[in-house]
Amino acid sequence: MHKKLFIPGPTEVRKEILQKMSTPMIGHRSKEFQQLFANIIPKMQQIMYTKNTIFLSTSSATGLMEAAIRNCTDTKCLNLCCGAFSERWHKITTANGKQAETIEVEWGKAIKPEMLREKLETDTYDAVTFTHNETSTGVMNPIEDIAEVMKDYPETQFLVDAVSSFAGTKIDVDKLGIDVCLFSVQKAMALPPGFSVCSVSKKALEKAETVQNKGHYFNFLDLLKSYNKNQTPYTPSISHMYALDQQLTDILEEGLENRFARHKKMADTVRDWTKENFALYAEPGYESDTLTTATNTKNISVADLNSKLGERGYTISNGYGKIKEQTFRIAHMGDVQVEDIRALLDTIDDILNKY
Ligand SMILES: *Cc1c(COP(=O)(O)O)cnc(C)c1O
Repeated sequence: MHKKLFIPGPTEVRKEILQKMSTPMIGHRSKEFQQLFANIIPKMQQIMYTKNTIFLSTSSATGLMEAAIRNCTDTKCLNLCCGAFSERWHKITTANGKQAETIEVEWGKAIKPEMLREKLETDTYDAVTFTHNETSTGVMNPIEDIAEVMKDYPETQFLVDAVSSFAGTKIDVDKLGIDVCLFSVQKAMALPPGFSVCSVSKKALEKAETVQNKGHYFNFLDLLKSYNKNQTPYTPSISHMYALDQQLTDILEEGLENRFARHKKMADTVRDWTKENFALYAEPGYESDTLTTATNTKNISVADLNSKLGERGYTISNGYGKIKEQTFRIAHMGDVQVEDIRALLDTIDDILNKY
């Protein structure tokens, strides 16, 4: 039996999209490929609210995180850390031989704009890394307030991980002045994993021209050369591109405002249920609209709950890393509907009542 996924990636993929993945192959240097590429880009720009260049990457988003660091940082980067995924930026920065400083808040708390301003007033950085939606803690960081601070430091690149929020909440890339905005497709985009996308600003591309040792696979200047021909430098996952093309059309057909409102409604539903039965892990006012991290106040066995859910065709996520069993996570992102969320919560209630 297929278990419906309510985990923060991969998310449930619709049958129509899975079918698109099995479209017969074409050559990646063919005219048909260039047409497919050209169909995807403007729709993606519309959903990202940007005129920036779009790179399609046959890698998961972590690859693009590394790309952003290698192309946009000469020497020093500031990593804003509030959980496991924002800490990943820090690991990537140091693993690539760059100097890195951090702002760290306790897990469950959000990054505040005044923390960033204070740091930027005292030192100069090539880039700042920011995780919009921290998938371990269920915190949605205040991107608009952070973007306001970044605007006062136009020499610094604003690198944003929007992996678990993009296509579930509005991210107006151009208005926010994001230099690299990246995400993988297996979260709120609801495609199979293995592919990711980023927008890259003129400022980031200019920076890439000056940065040494950008590596090979993710060199922005090579990607740009191919982009201008509606191609990718190396053989991409063409199957993903067929699925992505369809999904972008379907998302625009649903309507962006409708899609964001649906996510908000799913979030409210899960949050209300969590408050009634457990507690929210995220700092009040910063709860994520795409996933909820619940504090396990009843000390249930999350692993046991999940295996019982499995017997009934559902999967949720245990807590991430050090907060495993102390917390659990319910993703409410992608193409799932409010009714699906209600059915999941009813099933959990039913299991918990039998304890
Ligand atoms: C899932 C996730 C990632 C990692 O994405 P991959 O596609 O596994 O590389 C990075 N950041 C956040 C916030 C995520 O939720």
